[in-house]
Amino acid sequence: MKNNQGYITTTLILLMIIPALMIILITLDQNQHHTQQTSTQIENDKLTKTTQTYKDEITQQTQKAVSEVTQNQTQTKKPLKDAKQTIKQQLQKNLNTKTQQYQKTHNIQIECIINQVKQTNDPFKIEINYTINAANKKSQITQTTSQQVTLENNKYPIYDPQPFLKAKVIKQQNIVRYKTNTNLTSTYNDAYSGYIIHKCPYSDYHEHANSNQTFNYCLKNHYYHISHDGLCLFCRMENQTTCPHNGLETFIIPVFKTQKAITSIDHVLFNQTNQYNGQYTQIDDTTYLYLDKGHKNKYGLL
Ligand SMILES: [Zn+2]
Ligand SMILES: [Zn+2]
Repeated sequence: MKNNQGYITTTLILLMIIPALMIILITLDQNQHHTQQTSTQIENDKLTKTTQTYKDEITQQTQKAVSEVTQNQTQTKKPLKDAKQTIKQQLQKNLNTKTQQYQKTHNIQIECIINQVKQTNDPFKIEINYTINAANKKSQITQTTSQQVTLENNKYPIYDPQPFLKAKVIKQQNIVRYKTNTNLTSTYNDAYSGYIIHKCPYSDYHEHANSNQTFNYCLKNHYYHISHDGLCLFCRMENQTTCPHNGLETFIIPVFKTQKAITSIDHVLFNQTNQYNGQYTQIDDTTYLYLDKGHKNKYGLL
């Protein structure tokens, strides 16, 4: 009986231990699985975060590239054959430098290929399309994205190459002066305009005529305006005469007084085949423009 009882007890104990052992083993396995999942998740999150930080820098890098290329043109005074291609190459170069920094500091593999640079409907923006590949030991990200980049960043000003390509000008701080031996009409001897592209803050252009001060504020800051007849940034860089895209225009301010002269708008003055006159239009005691009906109407002066 004793032996029998002992046998039963041992069997019972064993029967109780086996499930307990199984539970322990399963829990251990689950824990390990959980740890693996957590570490993969951490690596995933890290990669997503770093990739996003990199993507955020693409905007600035694009502005920097456009700034560099356009500034260079104000010095070389040479038109580009393919402005989009030149911007694309400069941006790719800037991003490659960034990529090297990221690989060192974040311990990940990352590369970004610029597929395309193009116009948008808004001439103060350009569009880029890129493919980004990022990977660390546990995860990988591949994304192709299109992004519109505003050309407004005081750190990276966008220069207007047009005055430098179309006329003889000298730089005076934030303006260029048109010199006598240009092919502009002599009315514009010593006239001046800006050469850094800043968007006019009066989005309703009629507001220019609200008061003399309003118009003057625009003229003093040499703002640029959306214009269907004006050239877009890329066409300016290529020194085109016309542009099929939504473009820009700015005033060229004369210092020679007469009854009428060629309209004081860059795309009118620079267009050799389609120049048209404007009437003397007083803005304040010392500032005046020659404006045709169309532009008077556009800026609220009619
Ligand atoms: Zn304006
Ligand atoms: Zn264009």
